[in-house]
Amino acid sequence: MPRSDSAEGSGNSEEQVSGARVIAQALKTQNVEYMFGVVGIPVTEIALAAQELGIRYIGMRNEQAACYAASAVGYLTGRPGVCLVVSGPGLIHALGGMANANMNCWPLIVIGGSSERNQETMGAFQEFPQVEACRLYSKFSARPTSIEHIPIVIEKAVRSSIYGRPGACYIDIPADFVTLQGNVDSIWYKECCLPPPVSMAETPAVCTAASVIRNAKQPLLIIGKGAAYSHAEGSIRKLVEQCNLPFLPTPMGKGVVPDNHPNCVGAARSRALQFADVIVLFGARLNWILHFGLPPRYQADVKFIQIDICAEELGNNVRPSVTLLGDINAVSKQLLEQFDKTPWQFPTDSKWWKTLREKMKSNEAVSKELASKTTLPMNYYTVFYHVQEQLPRDCFIVSEGANTMDIGRTVLQNYLPRHRLDAGTFGTMGVGLGFAIAAAVVAKDRSPGKRVICVEGDSAFGFSGMEVETICSIPPMCLLPNSHYEQVMTAFGGKGYFVKTPEELQNSLRQALEDTSKPYLINIMIEPQSTRKAQDFHWLTRSNM
Ligand code: ADP
Repeated sequence: MPRSDSAEGSGNSEEQVSGARVIAQALKTQNVEYMFGVVGIPVTEIALAAQELGIRYIGMRNEQAACYAASAVGYLTGRPGVCLVVSGPGLIHALGGMANANMNCWPLIVIGGSSERNQETMGAFQEFPQVEACRLYSKFSARPTSIEHIPIVIEKAVRSSIYGRPGACYIDIPADFVTLQGNVDSIWYKECCLPPPVSMAETPAVCTAASVIRNAKQPLLIIGKGAAYSHAEGSIRKLVEQCNLPFLPTPMGKGVVPDNHPNCVGAARSRALQFADVIVLFGARLNWILHFGLPPRYQADVKFIQIDICAEELGNNVRPSVTLLGDINAVSKQLLEQFDKTPWQFPTDSKWWKTLREKMKSNEAVSKELASKTTLPMNYYTVFYHVQEQLPRDCFIVSEGANTMDIGRTVLQNYLPRHRLDAGTFGTMGVGLGFAIAAAVVAKDRSPGKRVICVEGDSAFGFSGMEVETICSIPPMCLLPNSHYEQVMTAFGGKGYFVKTPEELQNSLRQALEDTSKPYLINIMIEPQSTRKAQDFHWLTRSNM
């Protein structure tokens, strides 16, 4: 196996390297840029080693939110983010994020510390069958067999996360690997994996698809988040405009072609789905979001042309007329070639365009009417109308909640691809703040000044609400030492105390115990450097930190 240039080996066979450093170097070699997590025994050293090598580490309040953030990085950049968690409960908290990433087909690497190998089956601290637990939530789940094996597993996990249908991958790191030293010359860092190969559809199938589109009376393009992920915005927009086809974005497909494009029929969604006779699916599954492709939401004889990178997806729930297996951007270009060869346009004066335009007009009028209501408290439409007025055109919109997300989607406009993040395929609530943090760190590096707007329902916000502390923390690795947690209690009607002295502690405790009418939160300031008394045996304090 060729040794990568980035190998640490200097030819000095005495030089040692820790497992933590090997993990960080292997991730860096695979061009991983971002890591989110909640550190503790045994993974703190991994986060520090990653930071030393220039990987951005963001410490979060909960592993689930950290995992949401890492997965959003994967969707936004096409390179997996890493979620770093501790053993047992830490890993279990991350499973929700892994499942969400896998369901969304987003690349993600979860690295979980696990109990020491020589304590396995003995009831070790936070012992749990982690590799097995992650199998249901990932496309690849493995534990390296030695620290020399770590770079090979990391390369495979990164590659698996982005090749084919993207998804989540899990790497299990036993605690003893983190501090174990290996000889630098014995570690081979596998070179960065090649970018995912681009697959194209068979030419005869592309010709058939073009012919089915040309013969359609009521055609419709549906643009899903697979199209956004594959960066197909240029080719799909060209296809829309060149052929004058109506298109409908799915929630996260919004912005691949701007929402205010004249061919966007989002405002006539139900009508478009119900009466289309030919539907081209650009990276959108016929799952619950698209009502399974079945009547009564669709015509029984509607012809589906399915474009997807995943062969197993083709034919789910309906029997498609044409299947185009390949990368959406590449296949869209193949379709364009057909319409370049023999130009064709769907007529603007067709009955179908007329029907759609009329429906859009009447639906827009109803929304406008609701938005103009001046009654208080405001209704959703009024709120979103005012939010939309002020939204920067290039901002990321993160949205979750029931009505908040559903109504917000119809009013808040996306003009750019991969700029809307929401509850997604899994309908997961609590994703918002993690996604917003990911969008903010990616924007900071790639498009400074771009804003992230989180539009959340109360309930959805509550799931990961404490991540506001992550958002406010500088540097992101630390928690804020003087956070006024007591104000959280007062926000909901309880009482809070901020306590610095033994007298204040005595008084507030007395008050809290006497008053049975409400809950109390006593926020006590502790010397940041204070720790346990010296221990005779290093048990849970094995970490070098
Ligand atoms: P939406 O929720 O927007 O309807 P889905 O998540 O249901 O979208 O569908 C996305 C689809 O896109 C998945 O079936 C996935 O396999 C596919 N996909 C992801 N990346 C690509 C790509 N580069 N080329 C083709 N299809 C892709």
